[in-house]
This record gives sequence, structure tokens and C-alpha cells, in this order.
Amino acid sequence: MKAAIIDAAHQMRVAHWTKPKPGRNEVLVSVRAAGICAGDMYIHLGKNPYATYPQVCGHEVCGVVEEAGGDVVAIAPGDPVVVEPFLGCGRCYPCRIGKSNCCALLQIIGVQQPGGYAEYLRASARSIHPAPKGLSWVFASFAEPVAIAVQACRRGEVKAGEIVVILGCGSIGLALIEVAKARGAFPFATDISDTRLAFAEQMGATVLKADETLLANVLAQTNSEGAPVVIEATGSIRAMEQTVDLVAPGGRIVIVGLVKKGLEVRFPGLDFTRKEMTIVGSRASVNCFPEALELLASGKIYYPRVASEFSLWDAPEVFAKLAADPSAVHKGVLVT
Ligand SMILES: [Zn+2]
Ligand SMILES: [Zn+2]
Repeated sequence: MKAAIIDAAHQMRVAHWTKPKPGRNEVLVSVRAAGICAGDMYIHLGKNPYATYPQVCGHEVCGVVEEAGGDVVAIAPGDPVVVEPFLGCGRCYPCRIGKSNCCALLQIIGVQQPGGYAEYLRASARSIHPAPKGLSWVFASFAEPVAIAVQACRRGEVKAGEIVVILGCGSIGLALIEVAKARGAFPFATDISDTRLAFAEQMGATVLKADETLLANVLAQTNSEGAPVVIEATGSIRAMEQTVDLVAPGGRIVIVGLVKKGLEVRFPGLDFTRKEMTIVGSRASVNCFPEALELLASGKIYYPRVASEFSLWDAPEVFAKLAADPSAVHKGVLVT
């Protein structure tokens, strides 16, 4: 079969790759759309320490079931589906308590296993979700980033009527704005980039520039109380440290952004008890795909409309362009 293969950092080509055969509990999916995410870009740039080469990336994938293994029930050839890329071992502590997203042996499609930048993809039947009727392929490919936002909003227990300050208006930040809004909350989005803030405003957020005025502006909008929920989606240490100032006493902080390995984030220790704040991490997603797909099908998620579509077979040129200028494309989706 044809696939977009990354041989080494900055080296992607479309070439022949062995067509996978599904095992008894697996399905073969004929790929229709696969999103481009920062994670794919990291592997392309040689920045993901866990990546092995050659590899086929792509973890935001949807398509049509081509073949189902002998033990697979409820999924049949011809079914439109979305692939959940994370698969836990099922035996370790986090897996046993239903947090397989934190599994130490987590397998990610498109990172440790071949992903969706190919004609076909093999996945466990456990990772397959039916795509709602009428949902376009591009929209269906957004299930994964939207699921990350669903997970973060669940972790932060975002409720109707609450102000949620979202730090960072990248793809996850934009998904967070819309999921928070769908829950009836009021998203306040911050970023250093005016272009990204303009997108955030389009998604329905109140936007605030992430500069030295941010704290004063958040306090001004919240009766000097601070925000009930603050969600960090930049990965910047300074932004993470500021969450403890932005949050109201008794409020919740959700850390979604990833800092580089080994770096420390500091906050005044007394604030932790004084404010009785809750700080939680949020990693990828677990059991969030059905809700993400429902939200996408309901029309409450506008964000996929700003995506740019490219042919999957032009992936090498698209990735080279993005490597030279990450802002060249706001969010790319590769279609077959
Ligand atoms: Zn992604
Ligand atoms: Zn596990």
C-alpha cells in the first residue's frame, strides 16, 4: 500500500509500506482523513524521544472498515469509524482504575505503531468508534483533539455559568473554548499572538492578550475574585506559574500543556493552602471519544471549519512547509 513514511528527521516520502493484516481482535481501516498535529510535527522534526524510524505518523484518523478480525463483533466492513490512538496495557494500576491514558506501557498509533498517513491502518477493535451519520470526514478527524478538550473540562469539572480562563489558543486551546462553551461556561482565552486571539474570538471566547495586563484584566472581569477554572494549554512555564494567581480561591487549575522534560514549575507554596486550590493534570483522553463525536455531530464545534485540507499524498510538501513556518497552516487535515 501507499504511505507517507518518515525515514528520519526532516525526511518524509510517499512510498510502499507493507499493508497491515488485522489480528482476531483487530480491524483494518481504509483511511479517509488524518489530521496534522504538533505531535506529528515533533516526530517529523526529530524532537520526539520515543519515536522510532521509519514510521508512519497520523493519530487523528477516520475511515471505513475494510476488514474485521474473526473475534470482532459489532463492527463490520463498510462502517464509517474513528480510531482512538491510545491503547493501555489493561493490567497496570492506572489501567485497572480506568485511567488507561496514564498507562506506563501506553501504545500510541502513529507514534509507536504505524498511523493514519497511509491507505490502511490496523487498530484494536477496542479503539474503534462508530462515526455519527452525516459527519464529514474532516470533522470526524477532529474527534481526537476535541476528546483532549473534553478530558480537560472533565478534569476541571467545568460547569455552566462559570468563567474558564484558557491559556493558549493553539489547536487544543481552540477545542477547549468550544467544549467549555458547549457546557454552558464562559471561556476567556489568552495568547501572545493576535492572529490566534482572532481565531479564539471567532470561536466565541472573550479574548485577553497574554501580557503584563492579563492578571489585572482577569481580576477586573471576575469582581477581583479570579477565575473558577484555569486551563493551561501553552506548555510555557511562565503561563503555568501564573495559573495560581489567575485562579479564584477554591478554584481548579488544569494543566494540559506539556513542558520540556526536566524543567520545573514553581508557585508560592502558601497559596496552595490559602486558596485551597485544586491543581490537576490532564493527559490525552480516556472514554472521551463518544462525547467528542456527539459534540462534533451536534454542530456545537465550529473549529474544524477553519482547517485546511490537503491530499495525503502531498504530505511531504505540507510537512516541509510547516517545518519552515509552523504558522503557514492553522490546522491541516490530510485526506485520501
Ligand atoms: Zn494530536
Ligand atoms: Zn496499563
